[in-house]
Amino acid sequence: MRELTIAIDGPASSGKGTVARRVAESLGYAYVDTGAMYRAVGLHALRAAVDPTDALATTRIAEALRFGFDWHKGKLRVLSDREDVTTAIRNEWVGSAASAVAVHPGVRSALLQTQRDLGAGGGVVMDGRDIGTVVLPEADLKIFLDASLEERARRRHAELPGSTYEGVRDELEARDAQDSGRLTAPLRRADDAVHLDTTGRTIDEVVEEVLRLVAAARKERER
Ligand code: C5P
Repeated sequence: MRELTIAIDGPASSGKGTVARRVAESLGYAYVDTGAMYRAVGLHALRAAVDPTDALATTRIAEALRFGFDWHKGKLRVLSDREDVTTAIRNEWVGSAASAVAVHPGVRSALLQTQRDLGAGGGVVMDGRDIGTVVLPEADLKIFLDASLEERARRRHAELPGSTYEGVRDELEARDAQDSGRLTAPLRRADDAVHLDTTGRTIDEVVEEVLRLVAAARKERER
């Protein structure tokens, strides 16, 4: 039987990256972090002093980049044009630039085909904002992870040395507004996605619940 395709969407710091990676590991599936692709485009724009609001210039960057994901010492490594950008993309400047470039339809369509190709064979967990709605609308299981703004800000603040709680919260709020308010592929729960609120729950609990949903989706497929 073909392995499942699992789509996990949600706002920034909802826990989707950690949950998606752990679920993929536990199932022996590939994990595709689509946010990392938008971050890589944002990073290349910042390095080239290209304004992230410039649709044409950022679309050109997205069209030219070649992405790769692999596991390295138990962690997902993100490559763009063969450069390991795993660490360079994990900060709030790049996160904001990613959200700004993600508004442009040209950037989104440049990344869409790569994302669909990565999901095509099944046996994959893909996370982002529009996986269940646009990238893999036929996914076998769709999850929408959410948590309160305060909890997400606490989590992100704890991961970012030197940040302030208020600064992180304001940045998250602005990014949520931009991601939910854009015209192309906004952050939205797919009608057939299971909504999981992770506020006050541990990652272990959420991973277990997702694995239960995976088992149920498998049974459903076998019927
Ligand atoms: O998930 P992460 O915070 O790494 O994503 C960075 C940004 O990339 C998001 O704020 C969002 O604007 C954009 N993104 C998107 N669609 C996706 C994944 C990420 O627009 N599927």
